[in-house]
Amino acid sequence: MIESQTLQSAQPGAAAEQQIEAHNQRLEAFLKELDSASFRPEEILAWAADKFPGRAVINTSFQRTGVAMIHMATTLGLNLRFATVDTLRLHPETYAFIEEIKKRYQCAIELYLPHAKHVESMVERFGEYLFFDSREKQEYCCQVRKSRPNDVLLKTVDCWIAGLRQDQSAFRRENAQVASLESEYGTHRKILKLNPLAAWTEEELLHYTEAHNIPVHPLYAQGYPSFGCTICATPIRTGEDKRAGRWRWFNEDDSANPKECGLHYNI
Ligand code: SF4
Repeated sequence: MIESQTLQSAQPGAAAEQQIEAHNQRLEAFLKELDSASFRPEEILAWAADKFPGRAVINTSFQRTGVAMIHMATTLGLNLRFATVDTLRLHPETYAFIEEIKKRYQCAIELYLPHAKHVESMVERFGEYLFFDSREKQEYCCQVRKSRPNDVLLKTVDCWIAGLRQDQSAFRRENAQVASLESEYGTHRKILKLNPLAAWTEEELLHYTEAHNIPVHPLYAQGYPSFGCTICATPIRTGEDKRAGRWRWFNEDDSANPKECGLHYNI
């Protein structure tokens, strides 16, 4: 078990610095210990649950990868937390699907919401639909509604488990690693980021989902390759880039832009 469960990342002073340094060294040792090349996804999840009890979270937007990992974790009875960022602008189908997952797997899903005052002040200054105005305002909205709540979540964990896969090249995720170290926002405290399904192909994922009768987010059937907020995420047509449905109004002049919301810049 990692000894930093009570680590307060915001503690000031030299003692806190030493604590962070010791924590980072332990995480580096864990990273070396994890045999990510030969472990199966279930083994990686079990390893994380064992090393970081109460401090490892599967953070999901309820794509197939996230739900598959919730299925693995609950089936194996692993001590992992499940969480999502609720931007307060998610599709109604997503809110309903969260309830379905909780019921199916008898589990809690932690919701991380934007700070009410931050949203209020953003909307007062720029309006609810500021993301139409410019890339800068869209990124600001994503920062307020997504990145900051995600940062709040990450302050409570040592291990962040995500569902990036290398064959999601259309999402620019070909470099997704099974395990890497990231820095917590605003400090140099490290967090171990795991993508247990990084090497899985789309076919493997579909096969696993079907074979285990895992619930599938209803927006896939409506043509959404991934989900986010209403208006900003839309279905795509056959032949369109998988990111084409995101912030469609930027498609023409931003063809080289990654169109990421900021959660996974450091893949
Ligand atoms: S996806 Fe759109 S509504 Fe959601 S946080 Fe980003 S800009 Fe705001």
